[in-house]
Amino acid sequence: MKRTIRDLKNIEGKRVLLRCDFNVPLDNYGDILDDTRITAELPTIDYLLKQKVKLIVCSHLGRPKGYDKYLSMFPIAVYLMKHFPNKVKFCNKVVGNEVNVAIEKMKPGEMIVLENLRFDEGEEKNSPEFVAKLARLADIYVDDAFGVTHRKHASNYGVALKLPNAIGFLIEKELNVFQKVFEHTDHPFVAIFGGAKVSDKLNLINNVLDKADAIIIGGGMAYTFLQAQGINIGDSIVSLDQVDNAKDILEKAKEKNIKILLPVDHVALVGGRAKKVKQLEKGMVGLDIGRKTIKLFTQEIMQAKQIIWNGPLGKYEDSRFKKGTMKIARAVAKSQAYSIVGGGDSVSAVKESGVADKINHLSTGGGASLKLMEGKVLPAIEVIDTL
Ligand code: AMP
Repeated sequence: MKRTIRDLKNIEGKRVLLRCDFNVPLDNYGDILDDTRITAELPTIDYLLKQKVKLIVCSHLGRPKGYDKYLSMFPIAVYLMKHFPNKVKFCNKVVGNEVNVAIEKMKPGEMIVLENLRFDEGEEKNSPEFVAKLARLADIYVDDAFGVTHRKHASNYGVALKLPNAIGFLIEKELNVFQKVFEHTDHPFVAIFGGAKVSDKLNLINNVLDKADAIIIGGGMAYTFLQAQGINIGDSIVSLDQVDNAKDILEKAKEKNIKILLPVDHVALVGGRAKKVKQLEKGMVGLDIGRKTIKLFTQEIMQAKQIIWNGPLGKYEDSRFKKGTMKIARAVAKSQAYSIVGGGDSVSAVKESGVADKINHLSTGGGASLKLMEGKVLPAIEVIDTL
């Protein structure tokens, strides 16, 4: 078991470097468009402030190439100032003397927000110099940036190797949820996959092939599976180099007696218009699952005790092709199953459908939750001390 912040004793007055994932969308005025990632972090911050540590908060924001005033952490510091009145300061540097002086002046129970980690090119390169500068700021390191745990960056992987460390409540929760699903599986376990490409989800499907009772495949990736079955997919998206892998998965599933459910009808783009079709032909691009498919998938979902879902079931960004994804989101919410939704697109689809509060767990990290679903070890978590 990984050490969590609850296991850190006698930390009053200590300098704690907390890595958060505050990579939130901002508009041109610096207004935060979606604060989910910040609110998810508040319990950890609150707990550490109550332990009377000197809290040093750091995060990346966007993909800056050097300093970029539109990607400053200042708006996030302002958000936190409102939430923790009189306890938050902002430093417009990432590391260095000014930061050291500001930390020196802090009182226990206060926090300082550092500037965007990615303003320093050493962050993504995990450069030893940048790691050393970060490590010098603190006595203890806490990682709670779940969304970047699949990366080996200076502020997570690098600095964790240099300081006594622990995970925060957010990472702890993510790990517990995935452990619950994959190690203490409740049956029927239904896995739902969608999205554009099979290659991205291949490891994921292989991982659940040992555990799931049914696998629902929709979205663009379904067409590679339909092609593998010799079904005409018209001009729909297909990964020709993955057709053999798809055949392999279909065969393995048959051997293991696992149901694979694929679309039986579609909403297709035909001559520039959306049209409901049973069979796809040349000139048709399947972009959403059809009515019969929604019914078929929903029936399976309603029997499930446990569900994981990654990837939209159609091109949901286009209102003509979003019905399938929205209906499936509602079915997952309505089911009695313990449900986890992971991946940026699926999470935003669930939010848009208005049922987010009925899903047991919306995983906050896109790439990182995909890796956990694949049963992979996340490097930035691997380097955290175990108890
Ligand atoms: P992914 O990142 O692999 O989960 O893919 C998400 C993307 O898949 C979204 O942008 C969807 O628009 C897209 N997508 C879903 N279904 C289809 C489809 N039938 N054809 C093309 N793209 C799709």
